[in-house]
Amino acid sequence: MKQMLVNVLKNYHTQKINFRYKSTDGVRYGIYASDFQTVATAVDDGRISVVEGGVAAGKAEYSLRKNGNKDANTFYIGQNNAAPNVFKSLLVHEAIHAKFDLNMLQMPWLDNEAIAYVAQGFYILSAGEDGGLSDQAYLGLEVARDLQKGVSDSSWADLLRESLLNDPLYKNYINGNFMGDG
Ligand SMILES: [Zn+2]
Repeated sequence: MKQMLVNVLKNYHTQKINFRYKSTDGVRYGIYASDFQTVATAVDDGRISVVEGGVAAGKAEYSLRKNGNKDANTFYIGQNNAAPNVFKSLLVHEAIHAKFDLNMLQMPWLDNEAIAYVAQGFYILSAGEDGGLSDQAYLGLEVARDLQKGVSDSSWADLLRESLLNDPLYKNYINGNFMGDG
C-alpha cells in the first residue's frame, strides 16, 4: 500500500502537475512536481504513515492530526475500485493536504481543498477520466482544463469554492483555517 502510494506520487501524470492558484483574497500558491516528491520521501522515510482501510473502498484520507481513531500524519487508503485513474487522483488530492501539513502552512481550508481538487483535476486530465467524479472533482477538472489553456482566472474556480462552501460534507471545517504542523 505504501509503495503503491509512492509510485502514484512519482508517476508520469502526477509529475506533470504544475499550476498556480489564486485565493479569493489574492494569495498565490504554486503547486509543483517536487511537492509530490517531498510527500513521497516523507512516506518512504516513515514521517508519514500509510494504513490500509479506515475509509470506504475507493476512498482515501490524509489525517493531519489525531482525531478519534485516526492517527496524525497518516494516509488511510481504502481498497482499490474499478476506476484506477479516479482512485489515484484521490491520492494526489490527499497528498496536497499532506504537503501543506509538511510545510506547516496556515491557510483557509477553502483554498486548501480547492487546490487539492484542482491537482486531482490535473491528474484526471492527464490520465483520463475512467469513472464518476464528485461535483467538486468535476469542477476541479474544469479549472485544470482552463489553467492548462492559459486561462489564469478560471470562473470554474469560483464555482468550485461555492460548491465546497455549500456542500454539507465540508461544513464542519470549510470556513476555518488549515493549520499544518509538520
Ligand atoms: Zn480534501
